[in-house]
Amino acid sequence: MSTTATQLKPQPAVPGTYSPKGMLIDGKWVGSASGERFTVENPAKRTGIAEVPRAGVTDVDAAVAAAEKALPAWRNVVPRERGKLLLKIAEAIEARVEELARTIALETGNALRTQARGEAKLTADIFRYFGGLASELKGETVPLGEHVLSYTRREPIGIVGAIIPWNAPVMLGALKIAPALCAGNVMVMKAAEDAPLGVLMMADICQEFVPAGVLNVLTGYGADCGAALANHPKIRKLSFTGSTEVGKVIMRAAAERIVPVSLELGGKSPSIVYPDADEDWTVDGIIAAMRFTRQSQSCTAGSRLFLHEDIFDSFLKKLEKKTTALKIGDPLDEASDIGTIINNKQFTKVCKYVQDGMERADAKLVFGGLPPKTGPLSEGYFAVPTVFADRSNDWRLAREEIFGPVLVAIRWSDEAEAIRMANDSHYGLAAYVWTHDIGKGLRAAHAIESGWVQVNQGGGQTPGMSYGGFKQSGIGREFSLEGMLDSFTQRKSVTVNLAV
Ligand code: NAD
Repeated sequence: MSTTATQLKPQPAVPGTYSPKGMLIDGKWVGSASGERFTVENPAKRTGIAEVPRAGVTDVDAAVAAAEKALPAWRNVVPRERGKLLLKIAEAIEARVEELARTIALETGNALRTQARGEAKLTADIFRYFGGLASELKGETVPLGEHVLSYTRREPIGIVGAIIPWNAPVMLGALKIAPALCAGNVMVMKAAEDAPLGVLMMADICQEFVPAGVLNVLTGYGADCGAALANHPKIRKLSFTGSTEVGKVIMRAAAERIVPVSLELGGKSPSIVYPDADEDWTVDGIIAAMRFTRQSQSCTAGSRLFLHEDIFDSFLKKLEKKTTALKIGDPLDEASDIGTIINNKQFTKVCKYVQDGMERADAKLVFGGLPPKTGPLSEGYFAVPTVFADRSNDWRLAREEIFGPVLVAIRWSDEAEAIRMANDSHYGLAAYVWTHDIGKGLRAAHAIESGWVQVNQGGGQTPGMSYGGFKQSGIGREFSLEGMLDSFTQRKSVTVNLAV
């Protein structure tokens, strides 16, 4: 028996943010069948901000059953009409963009001005982009002779199980909801346990426009709720964004039932700076590519900096000056450039990497270090942008995804060696090349094993671009037309003999 939303313990609402009403199953806001809940934390203050249901196997079953019931009608809605609903969702998100942005900032610790507001706006753009693509859900005819009609159809796959992380939860959720629903699928999504509130708010907006059961959103932990979803026999497609480690678990679950799987996983992205690069421009670009203003909790963070030996020292001096001028502070404060690490576990992990670097006699701490133990920043999980130099690409800090503001700078003199080191990683998500010579830039861009290479810029994704990983950074593409057609439709061929 489901508990009702009214049984959720009320929390004092933070002004201008979303208050959860439960999880969304079959168009209703409900508690978990077990009655269990968990607290969502404000990482800037280490205090609870809301309680949400802790979903288990029974709740996954209920959500899948609701999705199954909604599927026949939804898949038969004409794509253009589904597209129009997504356009309405985009408008509704825009109308509440500030509330969504504040909610994201509050629960993720990402600064409102530099990160969360952009994420909320991009979320509306994602719904608008995929809504506009509804007319691309079309097939082809195959010429097989005068008396044969042969054509293909793009059909929805069915019930999609989606699992997302906390670092850009709303945008990453929208990248699954918008294309999947547009293509006529129904969905059960598990929000990340650390950041479910923005996703619940997005679901609240969506459910005003789509029928009950088309989108169901659960709040719960990975080991029970996530695993139950990944292994549910009625799920026909798994779409996962998160770590490579959990991605492998998801892929094994998919293999058991031969269901298609899309994986957007981790990264350890290289930046190669040539000696002819415009130094000031590139320093700003490296700060952006490293995603220092989101505490580098980004899968595309350019966390390995390959600097040509001729500019090594001067470049790092400028990088220090500009990075240390960024203001670390309360994510909701408009003056803050940088917010907090998401939780205590991640904070401890980042500190351990920094400690390890500081203890190495052969690694130079260029700037940064361990977070302050006293003062206002010690109240939350505030880390400090940190740069180490003078160790090789073989170092643990240069190989493992830290998911925190720790950058390793490595010298190079020979271009082929720089590209070899850039490719010496089991990840291949993003890469950055910095040079005044576009020929060199393109040569490097084509040689780097990565799903996305930017030359002389360190920006974020835009709807329309094809985004996804090479190697252990993932399988499949998001953000683009393929993010809908390849990920959320299956082709059927129909052949008719007209001679009879
Ligand atoms: P994570 O893999 O720990 O968790 C992601 C999601 O999986 C969460 O919802 C979690 O509850 C769930 N989960 C955990 N164990 C599970 C299990 N056994 N079965 C089913 N679900 C399970 O990742 P995270 O710490 O939330 O996010 C950070 C990671 O995500 C980083 O590695 C980052 O690079 C990656 N990421 C990738 C992209 C991309 O587009 N490639 C985008 C954002 C984040």
